[in-house]
Amino acid sequence: MKIDILTLFPEMFSPLNSSILKRAVDNGILEFNVINIRDFSLDKHKKCDDYPFGGGAGMLMSVQPLYDAIKSVKDENSKIVFPSPRGKVFNQGKAKELSKYNHLIFVCGHYEGVDERIFQLFDMEEISIGDYVLTGGELPSMVIIDCLSRFVDGVISKESLESESFENGLLEYPQYTRPAEFMGLSVPDVLLSGNHQEVDKWRREQSLRKTANTRSDLLDE
Ligand code: SAM
Repeated sequence: MKIDILTLFPEMFSPLNSSILKRAVDNGILEFNVINIRDFSLDKHKKCDDYPFGGGAGMLMSVQPLYDAIKSVKDENSKIVFPSPRGKVFNQGKAKELSKYNHLIFVCGHYEGVDERIFQLFDMEEISIGDYVLTGGELPSMVIIDCLSRFVDGVISKESLESESFENGLLEYPQYTRPAEFMGLSVPDVLLSGNHQEVDKWRREQSLRKTANTRSDLLDE
């Protein structure tokens, strides 16, 4: 999968070059291209923002550099995502849907947002990462990219995905690793028993308990 990221702040994307995502890039499963929108500005000072017509606080990203930056990477099969607090809230279902595309383009807004005409010029899906406002679309893009990448074949094992929070409508059960005892705290006996049926039963009960305690809305669904 190829992911183009259009931003005024390319330096913010270094986290994509570590850990599991780096391994996926090294193995040729994912390709990230971070593109500076400023390179497309026709302004002699490479300006990419301006005051909003009608007044109001802050600056808006201008339509021309954004338009040319998107044109430079888009083809007929590209899916364009614009992270925005105005979008529907992101979840695992949306991550799985996005993971099916061969080419994604993330357009990162900044300042007070972007000139609205960009949405008339391109079909872009606005996706929010939660009901709060951040300074730019860079962190939301990374959140969405990190999450959807996990569903791209070969990035992590299918087994890891199956037992995770939200997969069966429940939150994940508690997990432990060695040592079996630390500071007087022991791992639950059942996990050391070797009885897989009992382990599965315990995990299911713990998942239900955790979900009921912190996210009972998931049980309602
Ligand atoms: N004026 C905008 C509004 O009230 O909806 C907020 C602009 S925000 C300061 C700048 C940019 O950050 C947005 O254009 C968007 O790209 C990004 N952003 C901020 N909060 C976000 C969120 N919760 N989810 C996704 N993107 C967000």
